[in-house]
Amino acid sequence: MAKQTVYDLNKDALNDTLKSLGQPAFRTTQILDGLYSKLYQDFNHFANIPSSLRASLAEMFVIDPLHVEDTIVSKDRLTEKVLFTLGDGLQVESVLMRYSERNSLCISTQVGCPMGCVFCATGQMGYMRNLSPGEIVGQVIWAMRKLRAEDSTLTNVVYMGMGEPFLNFEGTLASIANLTNPDMLNFGSRRITVSTVGIIPKIAMFAREHPQVNLAISLHSPEDLLRSELVPANRIYPLKSLIQASRDYVERTHRRITFEYALIQDVNDSPELALKLAGLLTGMLCHVNLIALNPSKEYAVQGSSKDRVLTFQSVLEEHGIPVTVRLRRGIEIHAGCGQLARSRQPE
Ligand code: SF4
Repeated sequence: MAKQTVYDLNKDALNDTLKSLGQPAFRTTQILDGLYSKLYQDFNHFANIPSSLRASLAEMFVIDPLHVEDTIVSKDRLTEKVLFTLGDGLQVESVLMRYSERNSLCISTQVGCPMGCVFCATGQMGYMRNLSPGEIVGQVIWAMRKLRAEDSTLTNVVYMGMGEPFLNFEGTLASIANLTNPDMLNFGSRRITVSTVGIIPKIAMFAREHPQVNLAISLHSPEDLLRSELVPANRIYPLKSLIQASRDYVERTHRRITFEYALIQDVNDSPELALKLAGLLTGMLCHVNLIALNPSKEYAVQGSSKDRVLTFQSVLEEHGIPVTVRLRRGIEIHAGCGQLARSRQPE
């Protein structure tokens, strides 16, 4: 069995482990500093701790739970998709996107996904397992190391890669706790976004646990019939309840909620649907992100044309809904969630 990654431990658990090894309390600080500030990859790099302790830790844990299997970089070199192999041989992806004013990493929370959204390569893979908190944190640390080598920093983390974060609720929350802990990665809560298809019972729990972390909901249709086709989770959590849960979330957190809407040519991109969407969201502190769907071989449709995207946008704006059109990144490197891992699966 693969060894556990030390990134799985929160500060208290690390403290307890070191105590059980007969170590003084200051060792916790030294090890946290090496892992999360210096981003060491090997216990032998910890020159300030005794070699016997380094050996004991190396017997118990690995540091890095991810092996870089493949990396693909877009032609403009701004988008980079990495395929990681985990300790048990399964694979997940992350996507690093560099913008002029920020660097954003899209991370995975599950190997595969049970939600089966029709347009999603991950959804077509089926579900294998949840990632551990440390396997989620490890993706962030990979990007931090990479950007540090370029004299740059990671500014945003988005839980929008493979998997539905709210179906790995424990792992997602524990990883956020390690990302945001001031003694660990000290990453700002407001620079983290968790995206869900709308697992309603978890929305209120999430608001209680991490009210400062941004929440995004993948909507993709303002009509139940169409949404149930695109996002099967809608059959369990229909729009009316989802929109009510979103309004409750905003009331509780006073935070703006984001709705993601992937525009698919002649499927969900008509001005009539834009009008319906505006009606659903009226009066809510929210923002809509529109993006033309990334084509994939699993779902033989096209992302909406530029004209249709702009028309959809203008209907929303005319009705007072704040909206941004997102650039489609890295089509040529299969930047859509799961597309690289899927391409490595046997047919
Ligand atoms: S879009 Fe997200 S929730 Fe839907 S199948 Fe893909 S990974 Fe799962």
